[in-house]
Parts: sequence; C-alpha cells; structure tokens
Amino acid sequence: MKSDEFRRLGHALVDWIATYRDELATRPVMSRVRPGEIRARLPEAPPEHGDGAGDLVALLEREVLPGITHWNHPSFFAYFPSNTSYASILGDLACAGLGAQGMSWQTSPAATEIEEVMMDWLRQMVGLSPAWTGVIQDTASTATLGALICARERASDLAQTTTGLQGDGAPLVVYASAQAHSSIEKATALAGFGKAHLRQIVTDGRYAMRVDALRGAIDEDLAAGRVPCAIVATAGTTNTTAFDPIAEIVDAAREHGIWVHVDAAMAGTAMILPECRALWDGVEGADSLVFNPHKWMGAGFDLSASYCRDPQHLIRVMGTNPAYLRTQEDGGVSNFRDWHIPLGRRFRALKLWFYLLDAGVEGIRARLRRDLANAQWLAEQVGAAPWWQVVAPVQLQTVCIRHAPAGLDEHALAIHNLGIARAINDSGAAYLTPSVVDGKQIIRVSIGAEHTERAHVAALWAALQGAAR
Ligand SMILES: *Cc1c(COP(=O)(O)O)cnc(C)c1O
Repeated sequence: MKSDEFRRLGHALVDWIATYRDELATRPVMSRVRPGEIRARLPEAPPEHGDGAGDLVALLEREVLPGITHWNHPSFFAYFPSNTSYASILGDLACAGLGAQGMSWQTSPAATEIEEVMMDWLRQMVGLSPAWTGVIQDTASTATLGALICARERASDLAQTTTGLQGDGAPLVVYASAQAHSSIEKATALAGFGKAHLRQIVTDGRYAMRVDALRGAIDEDLAAGRVPCAIVATAGTTNTTAFDPIAEIVDAAREHGIWVHVDAAMAGTAMILPECRALWDGVEGADSLVFNPHKWMGAGFDLSASYCRDPQHLIRVMGTNPAYLRTQEDGGVSNFRDWHIPLGRRFRALKLWFYLLDAGVEGIRARLRRDLANAQWLAEQVGAAPWWQVVAPVQLQTVCIRHAPAGLDEHALAIHNLGIARAINDSGAAYLTPSVVDGKQIIRVSIGAEHTERAHVAALWAALQGAAR
C-alpha cells in the first residue's frame, strides 16, 4: 500500500468509526450470529496475490459488524465497562502509525519517558503516595502473575536462579478470598505454587475476605511447615464489587513477611474520587497493586496500570541482560522489558495521554459520579419493587439483583432469573450478565459505559420488569 491509498482508506475508516459510534445506540447490543457463521463466509486460504486492500469499510460492514457485541453501546450492562474513548482511539492509531518498540529506553525514549509520566499522573489521580512506581501491562492477569512470581522469589530467596520450586523447600502458599477473580487461581497455577496451595478464604455477609479466617489459614499452614507467601486482596470483586479489608490484611501479612498484592482491576478507577478512597484503606501497606484504566476509566483495551513499592523486585525476577539488548544508557534509565514478561512492548501510554488531555481529571470524576448515582437509583427502584431484591451492597456501579416471586424454590428461581437475563440479551435492547452468588442465580448490572445516561438505566429497569412478567 502506498501513502496516497493509505490516506484515502484511512480517512474513510475514521469516518466509518465515527458513524458507527453515532449510530451505535440503534443496534442490538449483543451479536446475533450463530457459532461458525462468520468463519463460513471467509475464504479457506489466504490470497496468493495481493491486489490492494479494496473497500475496507464495506468489508467491515459486511463481514465484521454482524459478529460484534457492542461494548461501547449505552445499553451495555454486562461484565465491566470497557470504555474506549475517541481520544484513546486516536492514541492507538498514532501508536500503530509510529510502529515503535519500547522494550529499552534507547529503542524509543519517548515511549519510556511518556509512560513514566503517565504512570505518575495516574498514581496522583488515584491518591497513591509517591512511594509507588508504575508500568503499563496488557492485563491485570499478567500483572498479578508478575506480582506472584515476585512474592515467590522473595520467599524462596530467588530460587529461580537455582532449583526453582523443585528444591527441598517447604511449599509456598497463596491466599485470596473465595470471591477473588479467576486470574488469581490461574496465576497461582502458572507461577508454580500449584492450585492445592491456593487458600480460598471465606467471606463475610458483604462478600469481603474474613481476616479471622485468613489468620486461621496462615496459622494452620505454619503449623504444618508450609510457608505463607502471598495474599491477594481484592478491591472490588468481579461478582459484587466487594472490598477486602486491606488494612487488616496488611497487618496480618506483616507479622509473617507475606507479600500483599491488591487486585483493583475494575474498582481502581473509582479511587479517582476522593470520597471512594476509604474503600481501599491500607493500600499503602501493600507490595504491589494493579488496576485497569481500560475498564471503567476510558483508555481503550489494553492498558493495565501495575504498581510496585519496589520495582527492583520485578527487575530481579524478570530482568535479562543479553549482549544484543545492552545499551550505554542502561545504568541511568528504565528498560521496561525488565519489568514484565514480554520483551516487545507497544507505545500504550499514548492512548492514555491523549485521553487524559481530552477528558481532564474533573471530567472523569463527573462521569464516574454520574454512574455511581445511576447505580444507586437502580438499586432504589429494585429495592422498592415487590418481589425484587438487591442481593449485595452496591458499593460502586455494579448492582446485583434478582426477581424472587413467592412460591418458587431455588431451582425454579434460577431458571426464572436466567430466563429474564436471556430474554433481555436476546432482545438486543440491553446486555447484562447472569451470575451466581452464594448459590443463588442473580442478574448482574454493571453500569458505566461512556454514554450510559439515566434514561438508558430506566429503560433497562422497565425491560427487566417486563421480562419478569
Ligand atoms: C477484570 C478483572 C480482572 C482481569 O482483568 P484482565 O485485565 O482482563 O486480566 C481481574 N480482577 C478483577 C477484580 C477484575 O475486575
């Protein structure tokens, strides 16, 4: 492709994206294709001879759009908000256009230094002290894996440089609440602890980790000769946005030199609001934490902000220094390849920078407060309606509800509530996630897409009541 064709197709593509966004609200939120339908329309083999990219816009309309579930739709209430603001799209486009790798400072100094500044801006935005240093990772899952590896190596005196976990040491144990995200279990397995050494600590009536049970599990492991190694505290669980009591967890961890990692993937964004920060009280005592500006905040996927009190842990565990990567600046700069698992890295800071310039911190706060108010409003409606229940405290923007008419047993209620969620998702009017809490089938409403206003939440509530009838 030559530059004149790139200009022509590129301008058409930008126009197409803007039109798509303008008309988004008129589309069914959840894709309606059947499994295999998209694949069946594409040629089985790649083109032997290229003859120009052709009409990319027509291709997107015809082959792609039918298979898209619209995450930026104002009636998207499923999983988590995945806001991809216009400004962040432009940042991603610029990143692709530059095509630079930021693995070492020298391979593109702007990529490293702008990332350092963005991570410091974000740190200030969520009210963390200057003792934290951040780096961008692809996802919270990766950041948590990195943190658990650091914890493992701290507890095993850098066993990776000798026998790894195959030496004769006592087993290392990880603790998280029973409501922790599945990525914790995955990281525990991948980091070599073994799933048998993950303790899923029971939660209280608000679905937060019970610290008495945590302490009991630690004591039991110590008595059996095992080594308590890491605790993952969740600030904002996936099901109900429960907050583990970080200050008390940190106290328990200190007594035994246990690493504390805070998983604030979804709810970290809320800390941009000073009135929410009490929810992660004690966070300064943790060793590492992660949150995802690519969820509720507005920087498009993928952009996970991973913070460490002492990044030397990351470098000790993940640094490599082969001759072909050495540069003369190495002593005085950050080489972010040493802070995480991949070597190559995109210039992700651009999309965050563009987004922050456009939205401003006050603009973000206003939007987050709008979403919190919408969640409270929905909870009030549900709480006041006969047979409807709000099944967990509404701490932020997630509202877990269910319709429980008299005379139905738990099995019938599960079928009934799954039916309500499916009817709404199939209708295309909105999209939400059925889930299970405490063995009860619930409907989870996650509010916070960039363009979700009160009217969209009100329409969802009307649709829920209609489906329940
Ligand atoms: C979304 C989420 C994750 C996983 O995030 P990825 O960035 O997709 O890996 C982990 N923990 C919590 C609490 C989450 O909300």
